[in-house]
Amino acid sequence: VLRLRGVRKEFRGNTVLDGLDLDVPEHGVVVLIGASGSGKSTLLRCANLLEPISDGSIHLDGEHITDPRVDADRVRRRIGMVFQSFNLFPHMSVLDNISLAPRRVHRRERREVEQRALELLERVGLADKAREYPDRLSGGQQQRVAIVRALVNDPRLLLLDEVTSALDPELVGEVLSLVRDLREEGMTMLLATHEMGFARQVADTVCFLEGGRILEQGPPEQVLGEPEQPRTRQFLQRII
Ligand code: ATP
Ligand code: MG
Repeated sequence: VLRLRGVRKEFRGNTVLDGLDLDVPEHGVVVLIGASGSGKSTLLRCANLLEPISDGSIHLDGEHITDPRVDADRVRRRIGMVFQSFNLFPHMSVLDNISLAPRRVHRRERREVEQRALELLERVGLADKAREYPDRLSGGQQQRVAIVRALVNDPRLLLLDEVTSALDPELVGEVLSLVRDLREEGMTMLLATHEMGFARQVADTVCFLEGGRILEQGPPEQVLGEPEQPRTRQFLQRII
């Protein structure tokens, strides 16, 4: 579904992604791990065209999306993204938060969007919160709303950046279990996390990033259990 080839990203001469190759296959779940500053968020932001890349290419379903002539809004309709901080608009109801971009940016019909939004809210157990404002919801509920917002266009790919790190420990479980459900349903996902237990549970492939390169990748049992690279071992020892 997603294919990165030789992707480089520089910020003012500072190389943050250093010629990355990565494939996210259909129904696959690829988890990015690595120290703070290793480039995980930058990779996700480049994949969603929030940052232009300096070199290389990104393809989504065979389409070269980093071609400068491509309409970024049209591409983003096929990619859902969720951030660490939920980024909900405080002055808008849950339902309006979810339907704003599909209606304004993607010009979808209000009725159709709201119907899909309500179906998804129902699925994540928040049907009764559609008319509430975000500040009346717990962090875990807000993050589930943010995930619904990312799903409302029925995307081909979901990008999740540290979706549990802003949550109180007792709220982490409900968001993780939603991600596990999405995986069971075959959603293709690329996500970054600091939680190795979560990575082990959801990943088909774990990629260890350091200095904007993938130093090691493979099934979670291998990369997290029996890492080949000394750098990966060091990283895992430090965080446990
Ligand atoms: P964390 O685990 O802390 O979230 P990360 O792996 O997501 O880290 P990134 O946020 O991708 O790391 O950052 C990688 C590098 O890119 C860092 O050195 C950071 O300072 C730099 N960087 C990120 N965004 C920008 C920006 N907009 N301008 C300049 N430098 C940036
Ligand atoms: Mg990050």
